[in-house]
Amino acid sequence: MTPYMNSVLAEVKAKNPAEPEFHQAVQEVIESLELVLEKHPEYRIAKIIERIVEPERVIIFRVPWVDDEGEVHVNRGFRIEMNSAIGPYKGGLRFHPSVNLGILKFLAFEQVFKNSLTTLPMGGGKGGSDFDPKGKTDSEVMRFCQSFMTELQRHIGPNTDVPAGDIGVGAREIGFLFGQYKRLRNEFTGVLTGKGLNWGGSLIRPEATGYGCVYFAAEMLAANGKDLKDKICLVSGSGNVAQYTAEKILDLGGKPVTFSDSNGFIFDGDGINREKLEFVKYLKNVKRGRISEYADKYRGAVYTSINPGAASNPLWDVKADCAFPSATQNEINKKDAENLVRNGVYVVAEGANMPTTIDGVQVFLDNKILYAPGKAANAGGVAVSGLEMAQNSMRINWPREEVDNRLHIIMKSIHRACVDASERFGTPGNYVNGANIAGFLKVADAMLDQGVV
Ligand code: NDP
Repeated sequence: MTPYMNSVLAEVKAKNPAEPEFHQAVQEVIESLELVLEKHPEYRIAKIIERIVEPERVIIFRVPWVDDEGEVHVNRGFRIEMNSAIGPYKGGLRFHPSVNLGILKFLAFEQVFKNSLTTLPMGGGKGGSDFDPKGKTDSEVMRFCQSFMTELQRHIGPNTDVPAGDIGVGAREIGFLFGQYKRLRNEFTGVLTGKGLNWGGSLIRPEATGYGCVYFAAEMLAANGKDLKDKICLVSGSGNVAQYTAEKILDLGGKPVTFSDSNGFIFDGDGINREKLEFVKYLKNVKRGRISEYADKYRGAVYTSINPGAASNPLWDVKADCAFPSATQNEINKKDAENLVRNGVYVVAEGANMPTTIDGVQVFLDNKILYAPGKAANAGGVAVSGLEMAQNSMRINWPREEVDNRLHIIMKSIHRACVDASERFGTPGNYVNGANIAGFLKVADAMLDQGVV
């Protein structure tokens, strides 16, 4: 890194101690931006980098709630309003016990570039809580969501900040959050995305992140004269993104063979077909069970538990062609990346946010595989959230084909933008540089236009 970028990163680390994920996300982006700053000193003079790493606003609040036994609990709520240069803050809410300020700042930072890539007018934000919905009853989840929204509603609005779902926040939680917002504000607006279909939601929003990620992978393959047909695909996670990734892989003729959760993974060498995928949807979305139950039902499948402290994850040591990490951050380390490459994987498309460590990414780049970072590959989710906002503003609903078609066009245009930027700045084929640079330029130019704010 140049001495200037080194000093920016050192300052980020000093100002934001104990936030390793945020440091990692910043490092990955600014390494790519060195190429831009060489050609465009105006960004340096206006201190765009120093400003873009500093959230516009951080909100931290208490979320007290009462469980079914009458016991009082206190969680912490967050909303990071990172950058509004090109539109209202936009980004999901995550409910997971691991949530902390640094993780949400990394996610909000990534979101700024991702949202810019979608071609839609959305700034970047992220929020959530260290609340764990797992094992809670519906009424406990509802009381938590109501308490969370009682504070959050002061800070959001359809032209200010529009949250959506993320890990632990699906259709159920968005419903409870929206209901409380409407009750407190006495207005029915598109303040959240991922809403139910009969109260302002968009068709294809649940599918969008997974479908978009596979569309992106298909674009990378097509650019190299290949397609997904008969390709063996590893998918991690078994939530929203993983399920619809597997569905689109099946649509395009590929063969998904794995799913996981935080306890372990299943490998089904026969392939996870549509009937098995429907079972996973029921298991995870309705029964809220564990992925190990898949191997109880389908005897040909093998379940392996995962030890989070181990040097590598056996899921990434399965022989395959393509990998779609769709669970969480840093789920692929250097050793996992080496295992993937050694086993013949030549496409990695990230459905999750920052699932690969920096040295893992380097392994993919060194081996010149087709590697799509999350901020490009998983932008389909927020893109369709943007389309949901547009439909809400116009008070109309587009049919499924229209939304899917728009999603497909957006993913193709993100792919093109990454390819063009990587070529223009002298690193053809490097989607990391392509995504970071293309996402950055639009936001940076808007910041220049808007003065020092
Ligand atoms: P879900 O809550 O629906 O599913 C998350 C899945 O990942 C679950 O299978 C979960 O297992 C697993 N998981 C979560 N945390 C861990 C962990 N620490 N270790 C291992 N497995 C874990 O979330 P989504 O599918 O919505 O999100 C998955 C990823 O995709 C996240 O990185 C998210 O930020 C990203 N993403 C999501 C978008 C969306 O539209 N939903 C948009 C763009 C990115 P378990 O049940 O055991 O917790």
